[in-house]
Amino acid sequence: MQIPDIIVAIDGFSSTGKSTFAKLIAEQYSLLYLDSGALYRGVTLFALERGLIAGDGSIDEKGLEEALPDLVLDFRTGERKGTFLGERCVEQEIRTLKVSEHVSPISAIPFVRAFVDERLHAFGRRKRVVMDGRDIGTTVFPDAEVKIFMTARPEVRAQRRFDEMKAKGQNPVMEEVLKNLQERDYIDSHRETSPLARAADAFVLDNSDMTLHEETVWFQGLIQGKFGILE
Ligand code: C5P
Repeated sequence: MQIPDIIVAIDGFSSTGKSTFAKLIAEQYSLLYLDSGALYRGVTLFALERGLIAGDGSIDEKGLEEALPDLVLDFRTGERKGTFLGERCVEQEIRTLKVSEHVSPISAIPFVRAFVDERLHAFGRRKRVVMDGRDIGTTVFPDAEVKIFMTARPEVRAQRRFDEMKAKGQNPVMEEVLKNLQERDYIDSHRETSPLARAADAFVLDNSDMTLHEETVWFQGLIQGKFGILE
């Protein structure tokens, strides 16, 4: 099915399957998939490696602001694809629990959001993009043609994240995974700058009891209805 040149903005709580869903529709409709959370994770990894996050979790914000111009953070497509810190592919490193534990406080810092937004806007200029995150439909692309807000029950989400980490050879503890999800949801929803919220014109997708295939059928129906495409 052909669709017009659009931006699809997908927001929602942690581990609602946003990236899995977004990647699939990107493939089905020939859109470019961009994971905005990966950039926040990249900034977090950078801050950890520079020693700007102390053992108690406190952040040296001044140090981070000064160091940020040194950070070359990008997505690459093609053969070596993923998130890059300079010439280093960090796709795996940014998904560890250590990074997950610090990413929400880091992404609540306004100058970090401005740094990431600048990169996201550059991608959005090409259209035919599906981007997932927390504030894509509300702040990054408020004019996106299609907005989706994803949610699922917390225990379903924790189980998904747990399985995902296991599959990557990590050794997760269920209580820690659930606690991390709940903490991130809380910080993400309550921060002052661009909190996680459903845009008024976003369609809600609760996939607690849905298969991925059912999600794509739901999306197809939404697109057909919205753009008057008959098939
Ligand atoms: O999507 P993912 O769980 O990888 O995102 C990691 C974290 O990055 C989120 O918990 C949130 O704190 C932050 N984030 C954000 N705004 C976005 C995307 C992610 O604040 N648009």
